[in-house]
Amino acid sequence: MDHGLKMTPAVCCICGKIPAAADDGDWLEFQDYDAAGMGLSHPQGLEFFCGEHISRGRDFILCTAAEALTKIKEGLT
Ligand SMILES: [Zn+2]
Repeated sequence: MDHGLKMTPAVCCICGKIPAAADDGDWLEFQDYDAAGMGLSHPQGLEFFCGEHISRGRDFILCTAAEALTKIKEGLT
């Protein structure tokens, strides 16, 4: 998927790492994703996950982005 954000350095919302390769990781749209916010630098409900964490992100795709981040980070501790 192309959200037009390729020019923005994507940083994993879980570990904060910049993926080493362009195809390492992807954007996930959560339940509070609002396409009307696409003009913003960081649209609501849209988070980037590196290849290591994207599977965890997909586990919580039915949550809002904030809920998903909280639950994923809890699961890592
Ligand atoms: Zn990560």
